[in-house]
Amino acid sequence: MNENPPSVACPCCGYHTLTGAANYEVCPICFWEDIPQSDLYARSTSNRITLRKAQQNFADIGACEAEYGELVRQPTADDARISNWRPMEQRLRQQQHALLDGFVHHRAGLLEQLARFVHDGLLRAIAEADYGMNVEEHLAALRQIHAGQIPVPIKWEPREVLELVRWSQPDGPNGRGEGKDAGRYGHLQRAFACTALLLIASEPENSGRLMGSEKDSIIQLIGSVLALDLKLQRPALRLLSERVLTLDLGDAELPFFALGILLLAATLPDVEPQQLGELGEWVLAEEARIRAELLHTWRPPTQQWLFGLASYNTYQESWQVTTVSILEKVIPALPLSEALVLRNIIERIGM
Ligand SMILES: [Zn+2]
Repeated sequence: MNENPPSVACPCCGYHTLTGAANYEVCPICFWEDIPQSDLYARSTSNRITLRKAQQNFADIGACEAEYGELVRQPTADDARISNWRPMEQRLRQQQHALLDGFVHHRAGLLEQLARFVHDGLLRAIAEADYGMNVEEHLAALRQIHAGQIPVPIKWEPREVLELVRWSQPDGPNGRGEGKDAGRYGHLQRAFACTALLLIASEPENSGRLMGSEKDSIIQLIGSVLALDLKLQRPALRLLSERVLTLDLGDAELPFFALGILLLAATLPDVEPQQLGELGEWVLAEEARIRAELLHTWRPPTQQWLFGLASYNTYQESWQVTTVSILEKVIPALPLSEALVLRNIIERIGM
């Protein structure tokens, strides 16, 4: 018998293969090098991928990285493993479900709810957004979406007009529509366009086929949902929550979804303070986790909280203004600990 049996669990495979923690030992079962936590996300030559990915690789191929496949050994009956071992991926998904299942189970879908208010004339107005080009083609495609059919793969019609309407500012001087209902008319169009774009983006086959990013659709959608005052917050929460549950855990847009969910939840009267606090903690934790993961990539994040994760921050000011105005409203009614979490988000997002 080994006089000094390994007693410390490897953070990658969960087997007790190490004699000490964070001691740069290489695990014989998965070939992960046990570097100190502080180095975990640093660019290192020992582990070139994140622990989350390494754990995933171990589950898939039995080694932390494919090239070490020849160097690892199979675990045997003598290898003890942490009881209830769960890879990070599973833990994060379980956390998402605990936070979001209540929203996901809301009865009505956002597209279905919006379709009640978006009449055919409004679809035509969206179809005309590309300077009146290809109106009939756009309209036909928009009618399909209105009926609940999400186009796969997405084509130019109606992608172009949906993206153009997403940029629109219904309350601005060049707001869409005319007359006294101009703002409302424009917000219905924009809410429909953003909803459609988020649903289109959630189809795996449409990956990479859209311009702009989902975070742009999220903040423009929230703006219109609040302006319309048609009780669309819950269906919008369901849409964002469903999307998060399918989003890759390394996706840089994830923290934007988390913040969007917190903001919508904060506008509902029946969401418990504790739940808002948990959502706030989640936003902060996911921002930090994605930030750390991005350090490994060719595009490391900038210092700036949240926005430093994205390549383009077209709607940075909208995110800032909306976050501050919604959270400032709920903070006075919250217990101290929850208030501090949301205050922390306001301070980080800056103005
Ligand atoms: Zn291991």
